Amino acid sequence: MDFEISDKMKAVLEMMNEFLEKEVIPLEPEYLNRSFVGMLPELEEKRRIVKQMELWAPQHPKEYGGMSLDIIEFGLVSEVLGRSPLGHFVFGAQAPDAGNIEILHLHGTEEQKKTYLKPLVAGEIRSCFSMTEVELAGSNPVLLATTAVKDGDDYVINGHKWYTSSADGAAFAIVMAVSNPEASPYLRASMIIVPTDTPGFNLVRNIPVMGHQGSGWASHGEILYQNCRVPQKNLLGPEGAGFVIAQERLGPGRIHHCMRWIGICNRAFALMCSRALNREIAPGKTLATRQIIQAWIAECAAEIQAARLMVLHAAWKMHHLGQKEAREEISLIKFYTAGVMQKVVDRAIQVHGGLGMSDDTVLAFFFRHERASRIYDGVDEVHKVTVARRILREYEGKKVR
Ligand SMILES: Cc1cc2nc3c(=O)[nH]c(=O)nc-3n(C[C@H](O)[C@H](O)[C@H](O)COP(=O)(O)OP(=O)(O)OC[C@H]3O[C@@H](n4cnc5c(N)ncnc54)[C@H](O)[C@@H]3O)c2cc1C
Repeated sequence: MDFEISDKMKAVLEMMNEFLEKEVIPLEPEYLNRSFVGMLPELEEKRRIVKQMELWAPQHPKEYGGMSLDIIEFGLVSEVLGRSPLGHFVFGAQAPDAGNIEILHLHGTEEQKKTYLKPLVAGEIRSCFSMTEVELAGSNPVLLATTAVKDGDDYVINGHKWYTSSADGAAFAIVMAVSNPEASPYLRASMIIVPTDTPGFNLVRNIPVMGHQGSGWASHGEILYQNCRVPQKNLLGPEGAGFVIAQERLGPGRIHHCMRWIGICNRAFALMCSRALNREIAPGKTLATRQIIQAWIAECAAEIQAARLMVLHAAWKMHHLGQKEAREEISLIKFYTAGVMQKVVDRAIQVHGGLGMSDDTVLAFFFRHERASRIYDGVDEVHKVTVARRILREYEGKKVR
């Protein structure tokens, strides 16, 4: 594997990093203490400058105003932007829009691309992805109760979803609903585009998560679909292909998330080292002189490096051999990187003592909000079981000495 980064990418990463340091990180204290929606005017101004600098929507197609970076290049970008909770949003690379853009690009009709994809990449509208249900285990995706029943030229959708991230203020949702109840489990559901101003699309609340209600893009919605009627032309991809498309959406999404988490690790690690060097715990002695802190620093450095190389390797495999061939690596990086991030942020908080618990640094925000990384996009346990089964199959019937 070649670890060399092209000169073009080096320049891109440098520019992004500089912008993040000078223009985005200074906004964080306000973000940590105020609502996301309250900050939108400032954020939109930053987005305008990013567009002018031609650094907008790095992983999305050039024809729609993006930079057309490949999965490895965008992984490196995601690492830089991940250092701030606002990074991806300011550069037009945020979830869940990023995943929705990918599937609209792959499966959207010309009309869907014009109505939804184009303004979404341009950052003029936002979207959400509505799959997980209140009453059924999300870790088993085939358990879906939401229905989409054909009536004339329409689908009529009924169901109760939650954790539809960023639903508040979104222009449309991509909804997973059972359209073909008689089909086999993986062919029963379809993806349907539902504009959020459709009667019967009811945002019940933004779910308080770890003490935060959230607003706008930074929120997680509970939604009741009550006789929500949309034209059948809003079907995204073939009928019954919901799970196949969801899988396509998740592969690259996991690389993006994992590299974002490496960015969080890098930020927490830098804060930890700096605090250790500057916090005097006895006359003339800083925390950095203590072996236990030195051991944490060495262990974190090794684990971050291991996770980073694993993710880049998975991205490389996906880029060169395809998503299917990289399935095992993707499951491994998903739970491993989330675990490393959790440990690194936790240790950084420990080194900061009381300061780490406060919102005077970004660490407590990371600790609260990124705990979810072990739950969304596949819970840890399912990834582990899936990988283990695949590995065990390789040994079946083999004599090992
Ligand atoms: C912050 C956040 C954002 C999210 N964003 C979205 C979104 O935008 N759109 C969307 O549709 N969903 C979203 N989700 C939902 C997420 O995908 C689900 O929470 C996830 O799939 C788990 O489903 P569940 O919550 O129903 O947990 P359950 O399925 O009830 O699982 C609970 C626990 O059981 C254990 N478990 C489950 N299965 C197994 C198994 N096979 N073996 C061993 N243990 C197991 C795990 O420890 C798991 O955490 C989000 C969730 C969070 C927290």
